[in-house]
Parts: sequence; structure tokens; C-alpha cells
Amino acid sequence: MNIWGLTQEEIQTVLEPFHVPSYRAKQIHRAMYQERKTDFGEMTNLPKELRGRLKDTLTIERPSVLDLRRSSDGRTAKFLLGFSDGATVESVLMRQPYGNSICVSTQDGCSMGCVFCASTLHGLSRNLTRGEILAEAYVIDDYLREQGEKIDTCVLMGTGEPLMNYENVVGFLRMMHEKEIFGMSYRSFTLSTSGIVPGILRLAEEGLPVSLSLSLHAPNQELREKIMPIARKYALPEVIAATKAYAKKTGRRVTYEYILIAGVNDGLEEAKELSRLVSGQLASVNLIPLNPVAEAGLKRPGLESIEAFSAYLSKQHIPVTVRREMGTDIDAACGQLRNAYRRGR
Ligand code: SF4
Repeated sequence: MNIWGLTQEEIQTVLEPFHVPSYRAKQIHRAMYQERKTDFGEMTNLPKELRGRLKDTLTIERPSVLDLRRSSDGRTAKFLLGFSDGATVESVLMRQPYGNSICVSTQDGCSMGCVFCASTLHGLSRNLTRGEILAEAYVIDDYLREQGEKIDTCVLMGTGEPLMNYENVVGFLRMMHEKEIFGMSYRSFTLSTSGIVPGILRLAEEGLPVSLSLSLHAPNQELREKIMPIARKYALPEVIAATKAYAKKTGRRVTYEYILIAGVNDGLEEAKELSRLVSGQLASVNLIPLNPVAEAGLKRPGLESIEAFSAYLSKQHIPVTVRREMGTDIDAACGQLRNAYRRGR
């Protein structure tokens, strides 16, 4: 049994057959998550015979790094991680002006089918467990530690739809918040969803004030259905009502992510519709010029269209940002490194 990702209480339950005092669970928890030991043999504060018994039945297994690519400007590092059953995920470190931000995946593949996304090309293999998502953070934090740095913020925007893996994602957030693990405030997390309405409403009640980011990508139902199949299940008015409810309940500003695709959703008409949709909300818009996926045949708009779209929203007093280019020289768009690996396998 792999105990990586278990809470202290869960470790205590696992230790029951070993008939050891309860403080042993605390020692193992500390050794795994603070001292980062993955071998019971190194936990020298445990009796030698217990270390042997633990080794016989339990493991502490973290993913292996299959590939690590660093962008030429040194600001982005992308990790391709492999789990023992063959699952592969991407996790990314982005050195932002406000600190080190990591982007974690929550599923191996994705079933949502967004037309512009490389992560969904082979569908969903499986959900990641709480411990596997946590391991992504640890792998990147180990890398940062070597340079005397640490993780400052985390976005759940990698492969997968986080709200389709709700329990594991919330478990991950709770563990990252634990003082003995990373001790990160919930406000340092941003969860991105394609618009799973029941999940958004449930998260609003969870008491974890994480920022919510909605992958909107189209300002009307018809266009959204064309590029995001999930829109057929949760219609735009319902999704917007859920994000408003989230903002009201948590007091957190919602970000609407909008991938700009040439000739699809980047015209002035769409900018006008988007501004009508968003105005008056506790929200901002993040424009993301498409990072083209070879298989999808879609194009990135020219600089002029991007600027015109952004300028229109600003004129309407909608807080808007254009995502900066990061790591395009290392296939940094969601799912591209993982796909390259799968093709080569
Ligand atoms: S954009 Fe997100 S939700 Fe859509 S297919 Fe890609 S990973 Fe899934």
C-alpha cells in the first residue's frame, strides 16, 4: 500500500495492525511531508524493527519525472510526470512577477472535448488521487528548493476538469493549506472550470475561499456549444448565475478566461457581447491568444485583433488582461508535452 497523500489520521488508521503509539503517525507524516523522506529506512526516529515491518508492507511512492523542459528565458519549467500505472501528467512552474506559480493537472486526460485543447485529444484515462495532485506540487517545490525558492501560488488549470474530480481536488486544497504541509492560504489558489454548475455551487459552500476562473471562451450559447461541448449540458445563463453565486458567497472575484481564436471568437461583435455579459459583475476577463494545437487546425489571431478586442473591453470599464507568453518554446500549452510523449511511446 502506498501511503503518500494520506492525512495524519489516515496514517494512524493504516498503522493500527502495527500496534504502535499514535505519535508514530505524526512522526511518519512529518518525515514524508516536511523532511521529504520516501524511504522508511531513513526515518531514524522510528525503532529499527518498526522500520523493517513498515518497509515490508507499505511504500511511499511519488511519480517519476519523465521529462523536464526549461524555457530559454528560464521563467517556465514544465514537468512530465509518470505514475506507476502508466498515467502521465504535466505540471508547470511559472516564475511570475508576483512569485512562483505552479499549474497542476487534476486528471490523466480530459473528457470535456474543448476543440482548442490538446489534453482532451485522447479522452480521459482516469482521475488523479489527492496524493498524486499533491505529489505534483512536491516535485516542483523540490526543484525550487534547490534554488532556495518556494511555491507562492497554485492554479488548477492543467490537464483535466477539476470539478469532475471534486473530492480529490478539495482534499488536495485542504492538504496544501495544512500548516505541516505547505501552509498556503486558500487565497493563493485559483481553480479553473469549464462550467460544471453543480460543482461550482458545491465549492461555494465548501468554506475554502479559492479564486474561481471560468473557461468562458465564447460570449453566447451557440458559439460556446461549438467549441466547448460541455455547454450543451450547462447553458450559459446557468453557468453565469453559478459564478455570480460563487462570487457573492466567497467575496472572491471571478476571472473569465477567454481564448482568442482567429475568425472564431475574436471579432468586435464578440467583444461587445462579452462586455454585456460580464459588465456589473465582480469579475475580470483574461484574454489568452491561442497557443495552437497542431491537431485542431485553429489559428491564433494577429496582434491587431488581440489589441482591438482588449481595448474594447477596457473602454467598457471591464478589467481585462492579456495573458503573457510563457514557455511557448517548450510546448507549454496544456497537454502538448504529454501528447508528444504519448506519440513517441
Ligand atoms: S480546456 Fe480544460 S476542460 Fe477543456 S478539454 Fe482542456 S483540460 Fe479539459
